[in-house]
Amino acid sequence: MQYQNKFNNNTQIIGVIGHPIKHSFSPLMHNISFDLLDLNYIYLPFDVPASNLKDALKGMVALGIKGLNVTLPHKEKIISLLKETSEEANIIGAVNTIVNEEGILHGYNTDVYGVVETLMPFKDEIAGKTVSVIGAGGAARSTIYALIRYFKAERINIINRTEQTAESLKEYFITKMLFNEIHSYELVPPDLVDVFRDSKLIINATSMGMFPEVDDSPTTIPESFTKDQIVFDLIYTPLQTKFLKLAASQGAITLNGLRMLVEQGSKAFELWTGQKMPIDQVYKALVSYLTER
Ligand code: NAP
Repeated sequence: MQYQNKFNNNTQIIGVIGHPIKHSFSPLMHNISFDLLDLNYIYLPFDVPASNLKDALKGMVALGIKGLNVTLPHKEKIISLLKETSEEANIIGAVNTIVNEEGILHGYNTDVYGVVETLMPFKDEIAGKTVSVIGAGGAARSTIYALIRYFKAERINIINRTEQTAESLKEYFITKMLFNEIHSYELVPPDLVDVFRDSKLIINATSMGMFPEVDDSPTTIPESFTKDQIVFDLIYTPLQTKFLKLAASQGAITLNGLRMLVEQGSKAFELWTGQKMPIDQVYKALVSYLTER
């Protein structure tokens, strides 16, 4: 049998850096896309501790690595190490995608695009309404930015286990985006039933309920939800979290995090390759991978 090497000296390298580099779906998603479009690219995970972050970027330039995704804990710190960052990445204060343009590193935040594409079918329903975002980490930050910038939500509630972090995020958006209808709460579900019920859209931007902690949920109170709501969980492992099951049992429309994953990935893919990711095929491939494993 003749061995055919798929990779050669024209192969472009893309990767993801984080620490620890947890099991990520990005290599699978991008490598499927490269195969489907027959592109001479490979996507690899790199475990990079914070002490090596600066050197890793120097290495990226030295080795001609075309692009990177950036994940925890580097999304914020990496901004000061990049030559240029997009307006969105600057306001959010986090970069999840880097493009190497002939040695100049450009930073972007494509999570915003993932949120926007997921919620776009509900744009008119969200405009002028109250939205509750549970969580105050990086994903919550991108989500709140998208809600203010693209969806014209009237009021945003930030609900978090550590109330002080929610309070700081609130102040951040009041200052950065001059959006004053933003309120912070501690995540105490029995006290929040009315806050949840008064929200047209509820978003879980915490890791509560993510595999293997599938019995966790930001609220276990069925009355938190109503049939007129849209409930979005950023988690995609499992596809149907306990939080979403509970919302669905009350008649709410539910959205999981897989569309966001694919959409944010497609934006990064386009920045690196100049080509459109075959989104529908990739989405279907990931659904079967997640449901069959
Ligand atoms: P992060 O910056 O580490 O923030 C984590 C948030 O979750 C914080 O608000 C934290 O609250 C809260 N939290 C964690 N464990 C909790 C617990 N046991 N009880 C209550 N609250 C808890 O993480 P992130 O990057 O924002 O990611 C958050 C989630 O979004 C993750 O599940 C991630 O997989 C998902 N995500 C999905 C996509 C996608 O494409 N679908 C993209 C990005 C992120 P404290 O402030 O109190 O610690």
